[in-house]
Amino acid sequence: MLHIAPRLNRIQPSPSSMAGQRARELRAQGRDILALTAGEPDFETPEHIKQAAIRAMAEGQTRYTDVGGTPALKEAIAGKFLRENRLRYAPGEIIVGTGAKQVIFNALMCTVAAGDEVIVPAPYWVSYPDIARLAGGVPVFVDGPAAAGFKLQPADLERAITGRTRWLMLNSPNNPSGATYTRAELLALAEVLRRHPQVWVLTDDIYEHLVYGDAPFATLAEVAPDLQERTLTVNGVSKAYAMTGWRIGYGAGPAALIKAMVKLQSQSTSGPNSIAQAAAIAALTGPQDSIATNRQAYRARRDTVIEALNAIDGIRCEVPDGAFYVFASCSALFGLRTPQGTTITDSDDWVMHLLDAQDLAALQGSAYGVPTHFRLSFAAGTEQLLEGCRRIARARAELSGQPLHQEPQ
Ligand code: PLP
Repeated sequence: MLHIAPRLNRIQPSPSSMAGQRARELRAQGRDILALTAGEPDFETPEHIKQAAIRAMAEGQTRYTDVGGTPALKEAIAGKFLRENRLRYAPGEIIVGTGAKQVIFNALMCTVAAGDEVIVPAPYWVSYPDIARLAGGVPVFVDGPAAAGFKLQPADLERAITGRTRWLMLNSPNNPSGATYTRAELLALAEVLRRHPQVWVLTDDIYEHLVYGDAPFATLAEVAPDLQERTLTVNGVSKAYAMTGWRIGYGAGPAALIKAMVKLQSQSTSGPNSIAQAAAIAALTGPQDSIATNRQAYRARRDTVIEALNAIDGIRCEVPDGAFYVFASCSALFGLRTPQGTTITDSDDWVMHLLDAQDLAALQGSAYGVPTHFRLSFAAGTEQLLEGCRRIARARAELSGQPLHQEPQ
């Protein structure tokens, strides 16, 4: 008989992977499923990056590398931090992992003991609470108010911190809300953090290059250099260079933390893929023009989706400043009934109705800690996005009855 360890029961499968799988199953049954669930760019990896990988293979870079990443890639990463974030890191303060996800996993596994608390501002990327739980920790959710663009408020952070707090997870631009913290907002959070030296900060900057507003991207260690000694700055090539499948992410922070993470990695993957590391060097040091080109395309798509969604009765969404998701309120639909007689009580019901009635796959906000909203990815072609919005409008038109609230949140 198979025994599953209790630690596995503390976590859920990733909702976005599940949604992708469900869409594929329904397609296999012949349904015309349109999935706006992707957490990855729909663009190709730039050609010069692919060529670097081919060269690496031809040159025989096919063996194990240093566990924490090749010296050449660490140098490229140190160069990126200096150039783009004005942050200085030595090679011993950098780790390369199999995606940013592994870097985050390593960090929490190395530092969170049973009962330790990890502050997770909501809405949050689905993996933070589950990785914290797997490590034996307790995620402490703190809502970022919708009226404040879903951003963590300093007073709420102050209230959430206890003697057991180990980490604050900061993700800007945010998945799923797109919320992007300004310099001033980070400084206000830094003020609180200075009073609590036991709290470390993991800043997940994976969407750094997908910022659409006027304010330049800022990261905590840059705006509050005194906190660099307890900040792990996480980033990667997945979103910026359309390289999700290559699985290269990195983190930079104090040497003692990085050393522990490398130790853990030595007993899990033995290090990231050698060929993908060579490709990541080309990404970080080669031509950067694909970033601006893709950003422009995303911005245009964002504007198209926002306009189409806000024209639908009962759907409301703010314009996201970053990432490639819209996080829309559907709370004005709660209380309405589908033709099959199901009452829509939360975004799970709404997302299920979208799939059943209109073959549209979206993600329920409950997965991100906000059950009044749902997430659509705009990493898809304009025609697909417009068709998605038409399907949402049709799904809305099928609902009848009296809503619980007159106005969405
Ligand atoms: N962090 C956030 C906020 C994400 O949305 C994702 C991927 O969706 C990741 C990290 C993981 O990135 P990687 O592909 O580098 O593991």
